[in-house]
Amino acid sequence: MAKLVIRALQGNATSLNLSSKKMYEVPTSVSRLKNVTVLLLNNNLITTLPVELLSLRHLSELNLGNNALKEIPAVLGHLGSLRKLHLYRNQITTVSPEVIGGWPNLILLNLNHNQIKRLPPEIQSLSKLEHLSVMDNTLEELPVELGHLTKLTEMNLNFNMLSWLPQQLYNCKALAKLHVARNRLTALPEGIRSLSKLRVLDVAGNELSMFPVEFHLLELQELYCEGNCFVSCEPLVSQQPAEVLALKELVARFVLLEDRNKCSLVHRALPCYPPSLTSMLEDSGRCALCLGPFLFTWLESVHFIHLKKDMKMRRSLTVPVRVLLCSYKCFNRHGHSYYAVAPI
Ligand SMILES: [Zn+2]
Repeated sequence: MAKLVIRALQGNATSLNLSSKKMYEVPTSVSRLKNVTVLLLNNNLITTLPVELLSLRHLSELNLGNNALKEIPAVLGHLGSLRKLHLYRNQITTVSPEVIGGWPNLILLNLNHNQIKRLPPEIQSLSKLEHLSVMDNTLEELPVELGHLTKLTEMNLNFNMLSWLPQQLYNCKALAKLHVARNRLTALPEGIRSLSKLRVLDVAGNELSMFPVEFHLLELQELYCEGNCFVSCEPLVSQQPAEVLALKELVARFVLLEDRNKCSLVHRALPCYPPSLTSMLEDSGRCALCLGPFLFTWLESVHFIHLKKDMKMRRSLTVPVRVLLCSYKCFNRHGHSYYAVAPI
């Protein structure tokens, strides 16, 4: 090992490959390689890192994959020049906020095959991150701060224990590939259409019953969704009596409708009301048939989308997509292909 380091020193090397050397420790002489930008330490038995690594001021890529680290060594949190960091196949259980805050230039973080239960909110400081991979860990939830990673193009969270995803994920507008297969998701958050750059979505092996509203408007190229609990299309005749809406809902609908008219008294008066009212109204929906607004009461229905015909994808597969209607009156109208979902 020392020989390799010396050779690298003599050659004024910018990269050093110490992978698969059965190393337990990183030789401290590494610190003398001031010009090293790429350091490969993967496939060893490393449990800690020497503080001398701090002298590698130009280190841009570090591979510590397949070692025996139980945590992310604190010294890494001071390597601000890092752009790519591989920590896959270790025994890491936590990601400390202090360490993660020290990588302002990171574009790739690979934490696959560890035992990480949660990611800290400080992940938002990785503002340049493009690739995040935390596959095969024990993640139960994601921090809402993930939504700050607006440069993120690819995220792989396959094989975890996620039962829900934060809606803020849809703020990651650059996301092109999202892998959340083999988790415990029962639904994807509403608003997925914001991910206008999404091309690959892998949700296979979850517990989804349908896709969120406007899912079919995404320009997907690949969709993997086998092994879910999608509602099946077995039409039953159903004629529902018109319901009587609660006064609160009726008022809300009136206000929402009036608010669409920029000249109306309601539209002009709303800003004078407490912000809590406006934020409540922001949660309103729009009937897929009459386009009328609703706030607290809607009718959940489903339509079946053919991936090839309706989304111009290669697969010949039909998937259920959620549709919200304002009333049974709309549902009972003829000429649409929306189905109410019958309880099993
Ligand atoms: Zn309607």
